[in-house]
Parts: sequence; C-alpha cells; structure tokens
Amino acid sequence: MKLTELFTQPDPDFGQAMTALLETFHHSDDSQAPYQRGSFTHQLDQSAMPDTGMSTQDYLARLATLVPGASHLTSPHYMGHMTAPLPAFTAELSRLLVMLNQNPMKMESSRLLSFLEREVLAKLHRLIYRGEDDFYGAQMHAKDAALGVMTSGGTIANVTALWLARNRACGDNLFSLFEQGYRGAVILGSRLMHYSFDKGMDLLGLGARSVWRLDTDEHNRLCLAALEKALVQCKEQKLKVLALVGVAGSTDFGSIDPLPELAAIARREQIHFHVDAAWGGPTLFSPRYQSLLDGIDQADTVTLDGHKQLLVPLGTGMLLCRQPDLMMTVKREAPYAIRASSFDQGRFTLEGTRPANALYLDAAFQLLGRQGYARLIDANYDRARRMAELIDASPAFELMSAPVMNLLSYRCIPPHLQGKVLDAAANDAINAFNVALQKAQRAEGHSFVSRTQRAVSRYGEQPLTLLRAVLLNPLIEEHHIRALLDDQLRLGRLVADQLFGQGSSSGERTV
Ligand SMILES: *Cc1c(COP(=O)(O)O)cnc(C)c1O
Repeated sequence: MKLTELFTQPDPDFGQAMTALLETFHHSDDSQAPYQRGSFTHQLDQSAMPDTGMSTQDYLARLATLVPGASHLTSPHYMGHMTAPLPAFTAELSRLLVMLNQNPMKMESSRLLSFLEREVLAKLHRLIYRGEDDFYGAQMHAKDAALGVMTSGGTIANVTALWLARNRACGDNLFSLFEQGYRGAVILGSRLMHYSFDKGMDLLGLGARSVWRLDTDEHNRLCLAALEKALVQCKEQKLKVLALVGVAGSTDFGSIDPLPELAAIARREQIHFHVDAAWGGPTLFSPRYQSLLDGIDQADTVTLDGHKQLLVPLGTGMLLCRQPDLMMTVKREAPYAIRASSFDQGRFTLEGTRPANALYLDAAFQLLGRQGYARLIDANYDRARRMAELIDASPAFELMSAPVMNLLSYRCIPPHLQGKVLDAAANDAINAFNVALQKAQRAEGHSFVSRTQRAVSRYGEQPLTLLRAVLLNPLIEEHHIRALLDDQLRLGRLVADQLFGQGSSSGERTV
C-alpha cells in the first residue's frame, strides 16, 4: 500500500469493523474482562516499535483483542462512575469533529468554531448568571472579553480559577504580597474540596499546605463557624486569602455548600468566590431542583464539566466568569500565533492546542434543549431518592447521607453487626468488610459501585469506607438498583464468612 492512500479514501471494511467491535463490546460486561494486567491475553509489554506498518486487517485483529479489555461504562448495572453515558448521535458527530481537527486556540485554525465556543459559553453563562439580552449582545463576541474558557475538564477549570484569583490579588508576582505586608497566601474551602485545588496551589508555588480544608456540618456542607474562625486566623497570621471555594456537588456525597452565605462572606472580605459545580452545575436546568444552587450567580467563577452531567465526551470542561474582563488578568500572547489584538482564545486558556469540543455541547443543547436536560436530571435525582429508600429500609445497609443530587453514599453492615451499636472497633471491621465487598463485586463484574473513605459526623473523626453510587445513566431502572443491592447481600454473606468466620453470615437475602 502507498502511504498516501492512508490519507485519502477510508477503508469501508475498517468502518464496518469498528461498528461491529462497538456492538460486541456493548453486549458484553465487566464480568468478561479481567482487572489485573497479568490476567489479560495481551501483556502489552513490547517497548520496541514495529519497523514496518501492518495491514489494516492485521491491525483490526489487534484491536479485537484490546477493546474487550476496556471498562464497560454504559451498562445500567454500573453505578459507580461519573463518566457520562453518551447519546448515540455522539458517534457520528465525533467522526465529523475529529476529521475537521480544528484547533480553537487560535482563529486561523478554527474560524467560525471559535465563535461557536463563545456562543456555547454564553449559553452556560446565562444559565448560571441569568444576564440580560443586552449584556450578552455586547459581551459574547467582544474582543477583550471572555464569558469563560473551555478546558479539558474540571481540574484545569479549577486550576484556571486559582490562577485568576492569584493574579487578581497580586498579578503574576507572588512577592508583591510580601510588599503588601502578607506572609503567605491560602485558599479556604471545605474538607470535601476536590484534590485539583491542591494541584493548583502547588503549581502556583504555594504548596498543598495553603489549601485550608475546613470542617463540614452533619450534611457535609462547609461549616460557617469554621470559616469565620479561619478568616480570623488568616488575619492574625497575615495570610492573604486568594479564594473562597464553594462546592456545588461534592464528589463523595453530592452535598452543596451554603452558597448564599459564602457569597456574602466573600463580598464582605473582598475575596474571590469560586464555585466548583463540575458535578452539580446542570442541576440548574431542572425547575424542580435548581433552587439547590441558589447563590451560584454570585460566584466570580464557576467550574462546569461537560463530560459529566452534560453528557458529552471526555475532555470537555469549562470555567465561567461573571465579569467578562476578569480573564484579562491572565492574558498571554505569542508572536507566532496568539495575537493580542485577535479573537484567539489561546490568549486566556491554560491549555494550548485543544479540540473544538464545544461542538458536542452545541449538539446536545440543540437536540435535547433545556427541557430534555431537565427531564434527565429530574429522573436521575428521583432515582437516587428511590435507591436511598431501599437502602434505608434494609438492616443490611446504612445510608450515610441523604441524597441531595444523584450521588449516594452508604455501606453494607455484615450480618453479625446488624442492629448493634457500632463502636470504633466495629467500624474498623465494617470498613474491611466494605473494601472486600466492593472488590468482590468488581471482580464478579455484574454490577458496580465505587468506594471512598470519609468521616461522617455520626461517627466522629473515624474514617469510614463508604460505597458510592452515581445515578447518571438514564437507562437505570429500579430493577437494576435492586439487582445491584441483592448482589451486595449475596457477596456480603461470602465475604462475612471469609472475614469473620462461618455462621456470621445469616441475614437478608433480597432488598
Ligand atoms: C469531577 C470533578 C472535578 C474534576 O474534574 P475532571 O474533569 O475529572 O478534571 C472537580 N471537582 C468536582 C466537584 C468534580 O466532581
């Protein structure tokens, strides 16, 4: 084959083979794929590159052995991942987007798609901040304005927010803080803040100790008394507070910090107020649940993740800015490409070259509409409430937090400890039991929830192993939930026998 042929006509067999691979994959589940590398047929241990290229037929044979080893994320039996199930139109749309291969870092390499990004960002800005037509008319396509930036995910959006907050406080020169009389700088938020904030402060040269993780209340919300105390400490120790972070949908519990109160405190203290709504932002689509996010419109910056509840492919995040000129504090240019007087989005983004994933959002907005999203959100949040009822009704389970959004944390109680008062030793045993149970369920592969480790106020400071269910797939029905919990009861009896000895395992058989 001539090499140039690779760039001209696609091989129709290759396309059909891809469709067939996906079909087969979607009809299998994790029970057919091992988890440890050593158990796969492919060891993936070849460090030498082939000298000559193989035929597409041979490559298809290789693909056919790789794909079955991927994680199955679309099954309604898997409720542990935050990865979005994708609407079917995404497959063909992604073909278009990938082959257009536009780079919205600069106008020259994306043209109209640069403006599509701005339109998509304006729609989300409006969802959060509810500005007037005039405002969007003036700002949406203004050269020295940015209603936000696209990022590859929530992490980079949060890091960008810290970058903006730092530059607002002291430009790009940390030492000017010392000239202002400060001895250092911190950010304040709850203990449930995402770990991307630690990465961000590390990159800003401030280190992980500059992330103050404050206590939460019994509903896993940032405790206001702890915040006021921290503010006093910062003043005493001459520490500049770069940002106050409110979490709108914590990764573990889906809990939402008291945003209106945080906004008022941030205003009073003149601190940058950032809301991490990577998970929870799309709640705003739902007339029934949107009041959960009251106060988010007072945030200076808001992180959203497209690849979570907005149901678009991985690699799609956003940072929205209330004030369209805030982004100017991080503006950069490069003589070869990113010109100061251009519309180049690369002036503001932490990333350089990146895909025009705004097209996925555009398609979803146009095809689902606000109402489509609202119905999906409502159904998911209702499902989480139903699952919480089933958990609460069984002595074999302990619900660890009432559902706020569509994340649930709970744990299984081994039969011999059900109905007992649980002291620290019992909790240690229950932790070991839940770790083993979650691994056994993952290994079996029929159903899945993830696990985390957190203290909950009911048991003081002791870290507890929690099972974590994510109700994101619109195809999940009550029978899937019951089957998942029944799997846990069944595996729980086996695990209890192993950990605590024979006879410890009599108990419920179904929920
Ligand atoms: C997922 C998530 C993030 C990180 O987003 P990535 O897209 O994984 O980088 C940050 N904060 C919260 C609350 C999240 O749920």
